[in-house]
Amino acid sequence: MSMATLNKPAWADLHSHSTASDGRLSPSQLLGLAAEKGLALLALTDHDSVAGLAEAGQAANSLGVKLLAGVEISIDFEPGTFHMVGLGFDPGHLGLLAGLDKLRQAREARNPKVLEKLQGLGLDLSWADVQGNAKGGLVGRPHFAQALIQKGFVKTFDEAFDRYLAKGRPAYVPKARLGAQAALDLIHGAEGLAVLAHPIQLGLQGPELRQLIGELHEQGLDAIEVWHPDHGPDDVKVYRDLAHDLSLGSSGGSDYHAIPGKAGELGLPGMSLQAAQELLKGRIS
Ligand code: AMP
Ligand code: ZN
Ligand code: FE
Ligand code: FE
Repeated sequence: MSMATLNKPAWADLHSHSTASDGRLSPSQLLGLAAEKGLALLALTDHDSVAGLAEAGQAANSLGVKLLAGVEISIDFEPGTFHMVGLGFDPGHLGLLAGLDKLRQAREARNPKVLEKLQGLGLDLSWADVQGNAKGGLVGRPHFAQALIQKGFVKTFDEAFDRYLAKGRPAYVPKARLGAQAALDLIHGAEGLAVLAHPIQLGLQGPELRQLIGELHEQGLDAIEVWHPDHGPDDVKVYRDLAHDLSLGSSGGSDYHAIPGKAGELGLPGMSLQAAQELLKGRIS
């Protein structure tokens, strides 16, 4: 049991990653850290995968932390990055698992192309160098970045993205993505809540942002991630007001990956357990 939550407001973090995708901590290590930090509730929201949830659930039970099933899905979108987080669904739902399996196949088709591009640029890198970093989870660009650092081709994670892996850079390969409606249907089909993750990354502001979120609301979006490490105080106000005006829920989480040099600390910025309970409407056991 974690110490010292008595008399203090209980805290929740509704966005985090483990080795099932591109986080560096195993699901049980992540839950261990959540307990250390005194979190009452953690959502594990790996990219395209629910494979970490079973181990996370066992650790959560023994540590006295509540675990919420989650997943983060990349949506086909321009100009920026559009991620949708699903929360509190049934992780055994067959339709959801089938949808995620298609995304896994799309990654498996993309990864050799990224490797070929890097090799074509003269970088001596093997698939084993990359895959070894994934610890059995889904391989993504962060594992390529880690391999580039290990091989001495770049010094930092950001440099790996800026020089090679980011959109528009020479080793970028787009991956097959879902449309927003397809992702909403997958999440809702499994009884989950659909949250627009880190809206700042959409690259939209003002009326354009409002219009997109209004359309998503009509398509069934449930909530906006108001609290995220990429959001400054002014951003938080914009997204909180938008959520309020459009009658959407407000969510928040750290997007913690345990990647050195990548911003973020587990639990920061989280949200109060009470606000999380209101958002999740009975989805916390
Ligand atoms: P993937 O799902 O394989 O396309 O990898 C996406 C992940 O890469 C994101 O969740 C981020 O953790 C990381 N990422 C994407 N773009 C950047 C960037 N420009 N700088 C640093 N990390 C990035
Ligand atoms: Zn990630
Ligand atoms: Fe994301
Ligand atoms: Fe994330």
